[in-house]
Amino acid sequence: ATKYKVTIVGSGNWGSVASKLIASNTLKLNSFHDEVRMWVFEEILPTGDKLTQIINKTNENVKYLHGIKLGKNVVADPDLEHAVKDANMLVFVAPHQFMEGICKRLAGKMKGDVQAISLIKGMEVKTEGPCMISTLISKQLGINCCVLMGANIADGIAQEKFSEATVGYREDREVAQRWVQLFGTPYFHVSAVQDVEGVELCGTLKNVVAIAAGFVDGMEMGNNAKAAIMRIGLLEMKAFSKLMFLSVKDTTFFESCGVADLITTCFGGRNRRIAEAFARNGGKRSFNELEAELLQGQKLQGVLTACEVYEVLTQRGWHELFPLFTTVHEICIGCLPPSAIIKYSLHAPTPV
Ligand code: NAD
Ligand code: 13P
Repeated sequence: ATKYKVTIVGSGNWGSVASKLIASNTLKLNSFHDEVRMWVFEEILPTGDKLTQIINKTNENVKYLHGIKLGKNVVADPDLEHAVKDANMLVFVAPHQFMEGICKRLAGKMKGDVQAISLIKGMEVKTEGPCMISTLISKQLGINCCVLMGANIADGIAQEKFSEATVGYREDREVAQRWVQLFGTPYFHVSAVQDVEGVELCGTLKNVVAIAAGFVDGMEMGNNAKAAIMRIGLLEMKAFSKLMFLSVKDTTFFESCGVADLITTCFGGRNRRIAEAFARNGGKRSFNELEAELLQGQKLQGVLTACEVYEVLTQRGWHELFPLFTTVHEICIGCLPPSAIIKYSLHAPTPV
């Protein structure tokens, strides 16, 4: 029988937690090789050491997940092509803005029997229209790609606190079950649904709503206003997803990847936090500046996603249908003040 060999492409905050989850399982499950390779975008630390060397020496990603042991069977590798060479299960978990470059480097270098999964929240917009990251991977590398999304703020899972996640798959339920097996633990409950686009759009679009929630927090408008923004945001997430893909299922919004991820991100996420700081500063300090100062190398996805969604809305003439998504982007680029989030996002009440 095939023994599966896993490589993780990415090693930030969530990528490191993914390696910990997976490494605990490959040791226990006979169908997987023990070793888990993790491609690390190499950095020189302030101590002068290379990040990969420190990870391999201490078994910790000291920069992106300080204080957590990843598992001795995790091997950090700075060479992308080398890291994926022998793998037949690839886990993609780099910030979405780097994925085009990564896919270009890997194109044509994959073995035929490789399966992939994307944990990445975001999309690319081209002149011909939007492209989800799992589709980018699938098309550029010629391999099948599932997704895993959920209410998964990395720190809690690193500390083995309970959470759930959703695998989205296209056709092959057996492959989806293999991913469920690879990620699932008693504190990380994973279930699979046949709706790749719905799962991926939930994870992607909730980051735009989290930016809006952060604005509301920064203006100290309270939880009622934030709940209103989350409700409207969820409506826009669903409407946008269904306009993009007819196949998206209503039930997906009730999985961990939907409403649960929206809630946790709007309360505890990085997008929310930086947007709060942005609004507190009255929009005078840019997102790039606040991200660099407050996140120390970690990356936001919501601001770029708001821009990407805005491009799609412009291409299709849909701005009026999505006032919240539209307003978030216009605030991010400084065209509107943070207070516009309430003023312009409200949908007209439905007539009785
Ligand atoms: P991160 O934001 O913590 O770290 C940024 C990563 O980007 C680092 O590994 C850094 O080395 C790498 N990087 C910097 N420049 C690069 C370049 N030029 N090319 C390639 N890589 C480069 O990363 P993360 O939290 O693991 O996020 C990855 C994805 O996972 C995102 O789409 C995010 O939305 C998603 N996600 C994150 C969380 C979370 O709680 N952190 C939870 C669920 C999903
Ligand atoms: P942030 O990037 O806003 O921290 O969100 C993390 C996440 O996607 C939780 O599921």
